[in-house]
Order: sequence, then C-alpha cells, then structure tokens
Amino acid sequence: MHLDIPTLTLVSLLMGIGASVGFTSLMAILNTQKVLRIWVASIWINTLGICLIGLRNTIPDVISIVVGNGLLVTGNILTLKGIAQHLGLTMRWRWPCSLAVVYTAAIAWFAYVAPNLSARLLAGSLQAMSFNFVYAYLLLRYGEPDIRKSCRIAAAVLIACGLFYLARAFMPLAPGSGQNLLKGGMPVAATYTIGILTTLASYFALLQLITERLVVDLRKAARTDGLTGLLNRSAIVAEGRAALERCLERGQPFALLIFDLDYFKQINDRWGHDAGDTVLRHVTQRLLETIQWKGHLASRYGGEEFVVALPGATLEQGLAAAERLRHTLAHSHAKVGSQSIPVTASIGVAIARPGTRFEHLVRQADQAMYRTKFDGRNGVSFAEEDDERLVEAGDTRC
Ligand code: GH3
Ligand code: MG
Ligand code: MG
Repeated sequence: MHLDIPTLTLVSLLMGIGASVGFTSLMAILNTQKVLRIWVASIWINTLGICLIGLRNTIPDVISIVVGNGLLVTGNILTLKGIAQHLGLTMRWRWPCSLAVVYTAAIAWFAYVAPNLSARLLAGSLQAMSFNFVYAYLLLRYGEPDIRKSCRIAAAVLIACGLFYLARAFMPLAPGSGQNLLKGGMPVAATYTIGILTTLASYFALLQLITERLVVDLRKAARTDGLTGLLNRSAIVAEGRAALERCLERGQPFALLIFDLDYFKQINDRWGHDAGDTVLRHVTQRLLETIQWKGHLASRYGGEEFVVALPGATLEQGLAAAERLRHTLAHSHAKVGSQSIPVTASIGVAIARPGTRFEHLVRQADQAMYRTKFDGRNGVSFAEEDDERLVEAGDTRC
C-alpha cells in the first residue's frame, strides 16, 4: 500500500469541506445555538488553511506556508472561543491572539530566514497540541453537571488529538524531502492519515457538545414558564410529588403556599396586558428574593396564581414565609415605565400530614387562599380540617 501525501491532502481537504458544509446546514436548523456559528467559522477557516497548505507547489509559498498556517491557528482560536462560550466563560482574546502572531512569525522565519521544515512541523504540532489540551482542560474543569457527559467524551477525544500532535512533533522526515512537506515520506503520510481520523473525531465531539446542550435546554424549556422562568404547572406537580414523598418517608414536615394576585384583571384593564406581564415578572422577582428556603420549588401555576412548596417547613415556617411574601408584595410597587403599580396577593398555606398526596395539599391551600379572598384579600390563611372535608367532597383542582 502506498500512502501518497498529495492524495491524503486531497482526502483531508474533501473531509474538511464536507464537515464545513454539514455544520453550516446544521446551523439552519439549530439557529438558536450561537456557539455553532463560531464552530462553523472555525471549521471553514481550518479547511481553507488545509487547502492552501495542500496547494504548496501551485500557489506562491508565502500564501501556502504563512497564510495557510495562520489560518489553521485562527481556526483553533475560534474553536477555543466556541468552547469558552459553550461553558459560559468569557475568553480573553489577548493570549490566544499573541500566540497566533508568534506562531505565524515562527513559521515565516523557518520558511524564509532560516528554512527548516522540521522546525515548522515542530511548531505546528506544538501549537495544535497546546490548543487541544487547553480545550480538554476547559471542558473537564468547567463543564456543568448537566452537560458533563458530552464534556468528558469531547475532552477524551481532544486529549487523544493532543497526544497525536505530541507524537507528530518528533516524527522524522524522509531524507531528501527538503523544504517540501508533500515529499515528507511515510512518517508524514502516516500522521496525515491519523490526523484525518482525529480531526473527524473532534468534529463529532463538537456535535455531541451541541446535542447534549440542546437536550438540556429543551428539558428545561419543557418544565419552565416562559414569562417568569419559574417552574410550570406540570413541573411543580411532578417535582412537588417527589419532594413530598421524600419528606413523608423521612418524617419531615412539608408546607405548601398558593397565592393569587388581587384584582389582577383590573391591572390589565387599566394599564394594559404588557403592564400585567411586567407585574407578573415583578412578583416573581419579589417571590424569589423573599422565599429563602433551601430546596424550595416555586411555580406559576396558572395565569396570576403561584404555588410554592417548602420541603422540610413546618406550618409556622410556612405561615411566616407567606406573611413575609405578602408584606413584601404589598410594599413594593411594580414599575412600568413612569407608572408605579400596586399589587397585593391572597395567600393560602397547607401542611402535609402522613399520607397526604401533593394534589390534596394544593387543593387544601387553594381553599385557604379563597378564604383569604373572601375575608378581604391581601392576607394569609391556613388550611383547616374543613378544607380537607371540602377536598374529599370532590373539588378537582390539580
Ligand atoms: P381576584 O382578586 O378575585 O383574584 O380578581 P382577579 O381580577 O385577579 O381575577 P380574575 O380571575 O377575574 O382575573 C385574572 C386575570 O388574569 C384575567 C386574565 O386576563 C389575567 N391573566 C391571566 N394570565 C395572564 C398573563 O399571562 N398575562 C397577563 N397580563 N394577564 C393574565
Ligand atoms: Mg386574582
Ligand atoms: Mg386567579
């Protein structure tokens, strides 16, 4: 078998074009994934770099060697930027850009001032190795728990790429290759072949990162209320059931609050629906500031109705939290433009007893909340035995 370097260059170029086109078309579907745009740019730039280096005897050397290598390092910087963004980190451009300038200058030096193909290969290998190890380090160090699986897989692939470039740094060149990489002989051909595989693997690693992020985002969107960012109704029911079960098993208390905004329709009628939405967001902010309870679950249960579960809280603690919230809302007006809109809430509190189901607890708290409405609003009531009888009589809320 004869591994011909120009043919291998053509294969890696075609693979690069295929990957670039594939990633670009993916962008049309995954247009919410901003990081994909950065990686698409990096893959195109890398492919162009490979193309220029592969055209060594056809185009001027300065374009093939200096511009080609400059593009490869630029592609690596963009991949780094994408990984940083994927992990929610801010990248400082100064260090990678300085490295790119030094690297390109070194390539130009070993091409024209002191021509040395081995030195250029060494510089190229060390540069690629460093970037791959930095990518892997960032993914392992900063990958959040919910995307950790793809971060670990990608890091393993990138470490393998880094080790490959490390090995390539010490690859001998065929005697008589002179200054032309395309005449580098069997060792260069072998590294080209492995290089094609590692590059392909690293593209798949990027795809896995995007896929897991997408799954996490979709899962989050399915359980979140779009306007307030709180849990939605089905999510609080599912998570509340599980939390209640855990508390009852451990013999811990569990308090549940329901609150409904008072005369909210009048707010919409007077200030408009958008102002009503702003009030709902304002209430959410105050709620999150006020309910300082470890492991709490806060949800927008319906239009202007919220449910908050406090696992481990006693009736006294639940009532205290409800009163704090009522007081905070009543004393903080929502700002809409130059307007200041007052808002109050009627709150009901219920506490779990052995065997209580989450749905029952919601209905009990709801009955208590309606008593607050009946008593004049802007207050707190707690569920009594009567509420339980009402619930058992067949009220179906959950
Ligand atoms: P009460 O004190 O008895 O609870 O009176 P209320 O006006 O708050 O209750 P009512 O059920 O009559 O009105 C609730 C209003 O909430 C009606 C509905 O248009 C409004 N609403 C529900 N969802 C939203 C929303 O997402 N945004 C806005 N702006 N309004 C909403
Ligand atoms: Mg209301
Ligand atoms: Mg209501």
